[in-house]
Amino acid sequence: MQMKISSFGAAHTVTGSNHLLEMDGKQILLDCGLFQGSKALDDLNDLPWGYDIHGIEALFLSHAHLDHSGRLPKLVKDGFNRQIIATQATREIVEQLLNDSAKLQREDYERNQRKGREAKPPMYDENDVAATLELFVPIEYGKPLDWGNVSVTAQVAGHIPGSAILMFECAGERFVFSGDLGNARKDILPDPVPCTDADVVLMESTYGDRDHRPFEESLKELAKLLTEASEKGGKILIPSFALERTQDLLYHIARLEEQKLIPILPVFVDSPLAGRIEKTYSTAKQEFVPEIQKMFETKDPFETAKLKYTKTTDESKALNTMNGSAIIIAGSGMMSGGRILHHLINHLGDPKTSLVIVGFQPEGGLGRRLVDGAERVRINGIDVAVNASVHTINGFSAHADRTELLEWSKDVKGEIRLVHGEMKSMESLSAALNARGQKASIQAPSIAMPGEGGHASDGE
Ligand SMILES: [Zn+2]
Repeated sequence: MQMKISSFGAAHTVTGSNHLLEMDGKQILLDCGLFQGSKALDDLNDLPWGYDIHGIEALFLSHAHLDHSGRLPKLVKDGFNRQIIATQATREIVEQLLNDSAKLQREDYERNQRKGREAKPPMYDENDVAATLELFVPIEYGKPLDWGNVSVTAQVAGHIPGSAILMFECAGERFVFSGDLGNARKDILPDPVPCTDADVVLMESTYGDRDHRPFEESLKELAKLLTEASEKGGKILIPSFALERTQDLLYHIARLEEQKLIPILPVFVDSPLAGRIEKTYSTAKQEFVPEIQKMFETKDPFETAKLKYTKTTDESKALNTMNGSAIIIAGSGMMSGGRILHHLINHLGDPKTSLVIVGFQPEGGLGRRLVDGAERVRINGIDVAVNASVHTINGFSAHADRTELLEWSKDVKGEIRLVHGEMKSMESLSAALNARGQKASIQAPSIAMPGEGGHASDGE
């Protein structure tokens, strides 16, 4: 086999996606994401790249999420100036996410400096983001792009708008990078295109050890919760990521309203970033399933009856004194920062409030303590009593689950190397793939991962 694949991120872990493909004597990067989730992972963002960035011919970006795109401006700042190839929708969304990331890094730095705390300088600024965006070249789904002797095809991954599975072919060899694969049971984005046979497949395994609950059940639960919460007359707080989960919620709340399964409530999306992403959704209509494309002819599918995006901090704070029931969707989805915090501080003490959690809450975080039934929590140094009712609805994940991952990869006769998962998840998926006669392994990282004794391997 001529090709070689080494992983400098999202190997033995979920975040920091960054792989080096060597094919036909060319060095091609796949993704350049941020490590996120803990201090130890965060520190990996500051390490040297692990390869000569001047030897790279091009970078292919699977999708816009920051754990796949968030170090691109750092790469460009460090001297990378070749093409970054991605779908048009990815380019549009990534512009919003990277500019937001640059702004948050600067604000964090300034805040820490003001408070005399250790302040880590921003990795990049808006100028680096602008220079990065200049390098983007579009690729269309299903239309092969020739790169010397290498032919590259992007296929629908159905994870977020613009997300792509990338297939590289050269001299009879085929390599597939899954990127992140979508949850086929949801009905906004098309299902991922199944993997064809390939010599090597680098496959995500976020949910390699478990299945999602049926999505219909989650929707029924959401309808019931929203109805009951509105009868109490309090605020309904939904922490959510600005991208995908927020639009997903708006779409389903709008459909539940149309079907008269829930009362019509004011919905506030308290996130300027979500407002900007909403605009990219309405220009990326072709990304969605045909029913939604059709819906766009008469209305915005992601607009509820009484929807308002709050932009300024003053508008956001004004929500605290507003009377009556309303749905407030605000970030961050993991309650680790953002505007959701002041809503929690102001409303958790009120028994009329409902907190509806639709996203993963990591161990040790505020969200997890609330899910686990904490009676008091500290938020921004303030002691807050929890009298609100706290509900968790699973099933909103943007990722394929175990059954879907197994289905997606069933025709692969070559090697399947697992990335983008916790070890437990990859071990379980690898065992299932091997048990049905496939050749699966866990891709070794080419950088030292925290807690792994500092060894590095070449990823072979
Ligand atoms: Zn993703």
